[in-house]
Amino acid sequence: MPLANLLDTLETFHGIQAPNWPTDPYLFLIWWHCGYPASDDRCAKGWESLQREIGVEAQRLLEANPQKLAKALRPGGMVPELRAMRLRDIAERVQREFGGDLRAGLGGLSIAQVRAALKKFPNIADPGADRMLLFGGISPVAAVPSNVAHVLVRIQKGQERENYSATYKEAQKLIEEGVAATLDARMRAYLLLKRHGQTVCKRANPKCEGCPAAGACAFFEGQTQGRAARMVR
Ligand code: SF4
Repeated sequence: MPLANLLDTLETFHGIQAPNWPTDPYLFLIWWHCGYPASDDRCAKGWESLQREIGVEAQRLLEANPQKLAKALRPGGMVPELRAMRLRDIAERVQREFGGDLRAGLGGLSIAQVRAALKKFPNIADPGADRMLLFGGISPVAAVPSNVAHVLVRIQKGQERENYSATYKEAQKLIEEGVAATLDARMRAYLLLKRHGQTVCKRANPKCEGCPAAGACAFFEGQTQGRAARMVR
């Protein structure tokens, strides 16, 4: 099934999707550190608490008492003290290197330079940088939802690789080839694949029965791409 048709199928099943995180690059960095292990739910809980107790602006984070900051992050899960330290590092760097405005500070840089700058922030590797580039409206890169990179590979190729970064790259190539290089089209693809991976095509226990993509899914057909099949069904 062409990827455009697959995305239509997923949208009919899951409905139109919208990001449930802040898309501004600076705010995303703060949100991402509001939960650990990072997940939409944990980050949302920590984010709400941080907004209520301290605020999310760089100056507020730098002025906050470190213990109070860590306490505000506790609803988001583990290691709140470490996450508080990271937030202060992010805020300090945004103030020092980007004049307090990360988005504006990234303007005028090449995409490679923006990517390199984003990856200097804590816990941001290529998948996080891709997500910020795309949803921040900086570039329509082929971002792949990092925790469900397997979804598109399973549907179009079969058994995903055991190496995460190889699976991510394979999914990215499929998006590059099959989804128009516009912000709207690539954000739609990202959000639908994310939703499908979170609710149906789970990594360890995909719900193939009742999956709207089953009729066009190479994994469901038993294709392994010559890789060791994993017993996930
Ligand atoms: S049929 Fe199974 S493996 Fe294929 S997309 Fe659906 S849940 Fe995932």
